[in-house]
Amino acid sequence: MSNPPEGSTITVRRPFDDQFHAEIPRVTADQARAAISRARRIQPRWAELPVARRAAIIARAASLILRDCDRVLDVIQDESGKSRISAFEEVMDSARGLRVFANAAPNVLRSRRHPGAIPVLTKTVEHHRPVGVVSIITPWNYPFTLPTTDAAQALLAGNAVVLKPDSQTPSAALLLAEIFTEAGLPPDLFTVLPGAGSELGPVMVAETDYLMFTGSTATGRQLAKACAERLIGFSGELGGKNPLLVLPDADLDAAAIGTARAAFANTGQLCISIERAYVHRSVYADFVDRLVAATTSMKIGVGHSWEFDIGSLSSAAQLATVEAHVNDAVDKGATVLAGGRHRPDLGPYCYEPTILTGVTSDMEVYAEETFGPVLSLYRVDSVDDAVAAANESRYGLNASIWSRRLGPDVAARLRTGTVNINDGYAPAFGSHAAPMGGMKESGLGRRHGSAGLLKYTESQTVADQRLLPIAPPPGVSNETFAKVLKLGIAVMNRVLP
Ligand code: NAP
Repeated sequence: MSNPPEGSTITVRRPFDDQFHAEIPRVTADQARAAISRARRIQPRWAELPVARRAAIIARAASLILRDCDRVLDVIQDESGKSRISAFEEVMDSARGLRVFANAAPNVLRSRRHPGAIPVLTKTVEHHRPVGVVSIITPWNYPFTLPTTDAAQALLAGNAVVLKPDSQTPSAALLLAEIFTEAGLPPDLFTVLPGAGSELGPVMVAETDYLMFTGSTATGRQLAKACAERLIGFSGELGGKNPLLVLPDADLDAAAIGTARAAFANTGQLCISIERAYVHRSVYADFVDRLVAATTSMKIGVGHSWEFDIGSLSSAAQLATVEAHVNDAVDKGATVLAGGRHRPDLGPYCYEPTILTGVTSDMEVYAEETFGPVLSLYRVDSVDDAVAAANESRYGLNASIWSRRLGPDVAARLRTGTVNINDGYAPAFGSHAAPMGGMKESGLGRRHGSAGLLKYTESQTVADQRLLPIAPPPGVSNETFAKVLKLGIAVMNRVLP
């Protein structure tokens, strides 16, 4: 199939065969400004609706995602190149996440009475007001579920949303817009802006009231600075170099299969996937045998069939990074225990799931995020050494611990935003009622849970002072007022919590 001419469109190519897939109109900066103005006009009416009405629309969208499951899977796969089972993670996550958020929102967002400054005389209520128009910028690796779940929380909080998807994967977000419309979302409340980040990012920062960004740490840092200039809210879910610990009391069969899944699902292009494994020396040999067997039995391939565990990498650029990391490691003395080969016979960007040992700190793969199917294995002498090595990173997104008894105690010592015990990444990410995000350079703020909803609001405290102001009444001296109040505070401190 021949390519359409370059111009005011985005050409999406299919990673499965590097052929033309779709041509999407590219939004200009002026069109983005116009969409933001329309969003700003409609948002107050949306905010006036009871939360339960907004939640009903989001819950309906969850049902439509399940109804349209096959179509959603096809779109995700065609744009990203991932396997169908990895694409299904997106359907599962978005359909369940939306329902959980919709159920929780009325309670999380409700106004709450608090003890006032002066008991009885001050009535104090905390409200959560929407920030207004929220910008969301998403990457290509989870092109459906990240737009869906982030937009849902911002909309539930009473905001309008403009969303810029990655230019490699705009169709999945456009499909989401169709689903939201069918679910009953009024026009202009959710607008997808396909286009270049470098052109639309500055408009979104300048014209909206909050930015939720998912992508690289480098871009996130740049956007956070720009938001700080305007003093608008920012949250970023950024990179990771996630560790996994196999402790002496681990179930090794489960740990090996789980480690292969945690490192190679989504072809390793998952911010929370595992790239470093620290294995206690007492179980190292047994674990490695099992892990190599689990890895080499994974089926790689392209297309819509359910038979493949691992799909294609998403682009030539991703393939180049993976090859560069593996070649650099091998050139400097690392050993390939499994994989290590580009597989153009299966698809132009297919790469075997790869396990390395003998990785040292002078190799790129040691500390840099590969964002591909490459796992480095390290033998450690003690649980303390495993914890220290896991924490030795500028990132702090996700960690995995394999142990029958030690999980909760070791988790408390890890500096990562999520920890999965006896699994790799899905249980924490899929616990939508709980917050998810990164420590250190892996991010700022959280998605999911009440934190992920409340960040799209400004809290407003309304205090209604009755009968007397908090000041000396007429005819009472400052000194007398201060004495009475001091006594009152002493009593309050004793009897009130
Ligand atoms: P990226 O280059 O930062 O791109 C991500 C998004 O940002 C794309 O939509 C991109 O738009 C846009 N963008 C790029 N430059 C911009 C700018 N100056 N202003 C505004 N927007 C801009 O990230 P990537 O390398 O493609 O994505 C992979 C990274 O995302 C990995 O590091 C991964 O760990 C991280 N990630 C993190 C999470 C998480 O939850 N923590 C989840 C998924 C991915 P274009 O369309 O123009 O490229």
